[in-house]
Amino acid sequence: MSLRIGHGYDLHRLVPGRPFVIGGVEIPSERGPIGHSDGDALVHAVIDALLGAAGLGDIGMHFPDTDPAWSGVAGSTLISEALPLVDGYHIVNVDTTIIVEQPKIAPHREAIRRRLAQMLSIEVAQVNVKAKTNEGCDATGAGDAIACFAVVLLEEEQSEAWL
Ligand code: MG
Repeated sequence: MSLRIGHGYDLHRLVPGRPFVIGGVEIPSERGPIGHSDGDALVHAVIDALLGAAGLGDIGMHFPDTDPAWSGVAGSTLISEALPLVDGYHIVNVDTTIIVEQPKIAPHREAIRRRLAQMLSIEVAQVNVKAKTNEGCDATGAGDAIACFAVVLLEEEQSEAWL
C-alpha cells in the first residue's frame, strides 16, 4: 500500500461586486474573490494538494494564469481537468480549512462539503470542511482576502497483478 500526502494553500483578494464562490458554492456576500479564474480559493488549494500528493508540481504549472483558456473558469472545470492528472491514485480523504471574516461559512459548510465531494467523485464522508476567522489580524482579518488550506491523502491503486 502506497500512501502519499499533499498540502495546498491559496489566497484571493476580496473586492466588491464579485460573486463569492467557495468550493463551488455561491454564498451571498458584498465582496467576492478576484482572480484570473473564478477565484475559488478552496478549489485551488484542493487542486494544489492533489498535485502535491502525486508529485506533480502546482496549479500554476498546469493551469497558468497567462493562458486565456483558464480566464474566468469555474473551479469545477479545473478539478475535472486536474483529476486525470492523478490517475493511478484514489483519494483517501480531503481535509480543508477556510479562513475568512465575512460571509459566515458555517451555515454553508455542509453544502460546500457535499459539492467538493461531488466534484472530486468521492463520498461526502471523505471530505471535511473547517472554517474560521483570522481574529481581525492582517488582510484576511480585515476582510480583504480569503485564504484556504487543504490536505489530501492519495493511495496508489493496486495493479491488476495484485488483485
Ligand atoms: Mg487561486
